[in-house]
Amino acid sequence: MKTDYDVLIVGSGMVGAAIANALDGSDLTIGIIENHTPQMQWPPEHFDIRVSAITRASQRFFENLGVWHGMEQRRVTPYNQMHVWDSTGGHGEIHFDAAEINEPNLGHIIENSVIQSALVERFADFDNIEFICPVNFTRLAFEKDHAWLELDDGKKLAAKLIIGTDGANSRVRQIAGISVKGWQYDHKAVVTVVKTEKSHQNAAWQRFLPTGPLAFLPLENGYSSIVWSTSPSLADQLVAMDVELFKQDLEQAFESKLGTIVEVGQRGAFQLKLQHTTNYTRPRLALAGDAAHAVHPLAGQGVNLGLLDAAALTEVVLEAHQAGQDIGSHQILRRFERWRKGDNLAMLAAMDGFKRLFGNQTAPVQFMRHLGLNMTNRATPLKNFLVKYGMGYKGDLPKACR
Ligand SMILES: Cc1cc2nc3c(=O)[nH]c(=O)nc-3n(C[C@H](O)[C@H](O)[C@H](O)COP(=O)(O)OP(=O)(O)OC[C@H]3O[C@@H](n4cnc5c(N)ncnc54)[C@H](O)[C@@H]3O)c2cc1C
Repeated sequence: MKTDYDVLIVGSGMVGAAIANALDGSDLTIGIIENHTPQMQWPPEHFDIRVSAITRASQRFFENLGVWHGMEQRRVTPYNQMHVWDSTGGHGEIHFDAAEINEPNLGHIIENSVIQSALVERFADFDNIEFICPVNFTRLAFEKDHAWLELDDGKKLAAKLIIGTDGANSRVRQIAGISVKGWQYDHKAVVTVVKTEKSHQNAAWQRFLPTGPLAFLPLENGYSSIVWSTSPSLADQLVAMDVELFKQDLEQAFESKLGTIVEVGQRGAFQLKLQHTTNYTRPRLALAGDAAHAVHPLAGQGVNLGLLDAAALTEVVLEAHQAGQDIGSHQILRRFERWRKGDNLAMLAAMDGFKRLFGNQTAPVQFMRHLGLNMTNRATPLKNFLVKYGMGYKGDLPKACR
């Protein structure tokens, strides 16, 4: 194992693994450490209960990295339509259709393990990437011209730049003394995979309930991934309850839009929070993905923001390296921070606003919400803008995402 790198990435989740791939082909030496061995294979009938709605911008990034084909070979499901409705105290609804904006689809639903394994698989193709896994680090320190990590076997790894992509509870962020602002939502997301009586028609479906949004996201062979955000106590009950009761509750909550629930897989629940770090960078360190920001999953934007971070950060680092500059200097890293912080904050605020708007059950707000949904549904330019925004055609996109 090498002990001296240009870049050390902590965490090989979707964002960290994408960063390593984006730095391939350069003469930078990359180390990537991970404390959980990623799942690389599974039987075809097994679905990961964690999935992501991947925007067109993220798809372009994966295509440019040469990993999209690996994902398609495993399993990706395009969705062509989206139906969103709110039927408490009246009725409001909005439909999005890829055909209306001349696109082949609105995005893809992909299991997180599909994304991660396709990215990690590629490490073996590159001489400049070393994957160190499973391993934990015990210390992290920053010096003037390098930073170093000590692994649990006592080995010390040094780098010009450390990238923290170790998720929402980032230890890298904590040790670096970067604080976070935010709060826990009164929501946990129950996730599972179900088979429904009727076809999902390759559409993403989302109903807003008084307790939170319930989404059915299309997967292969008539299966759908469920993300049901609700109060923590109800979420715990939904995970623990008898499977037949769960089927009934889910069917009722979804107004039987896809008929009966025929099959239910393993269930899990995740506490949801809004979180944003005060800084993404300090000398010799950059944070990206959930280590820098966490967002409510109601519009499926979290990892898409993280992938834009990955593309922007690697663009800045590669340009600096080509110009012979110090890739770990704060001046360089601040370019990435300035680039991404505003866009991420805008999306965090928008998702928080939606969560509050749809959680408010007072009659005037319900009325305005239904009116707003129905009017937007008829206002083609606004609707087209919204759908394009959701697909990632927004802001100052990094070159690899265009
Ligand atoms: C219910 C739910 C539904 C969601 N749906 C969507 C969606 O549809 N679309 C979307 O864009 N986003 C979605 N998200 C958000 C998305 O899952 C996250 O944004 C994404 O997982 C963040 O990726 P990441 O690589 O930054 O972090 P993580 O996925 O958390 O990965 C962090 C990695 O670091 C490793 N690690 C952690 N600590 C250490 C350590 N000390 N040493 C070494 N390695 C370490 C972990 O093992 C892991 O591999 C959803 C989230 C939830 C909860």
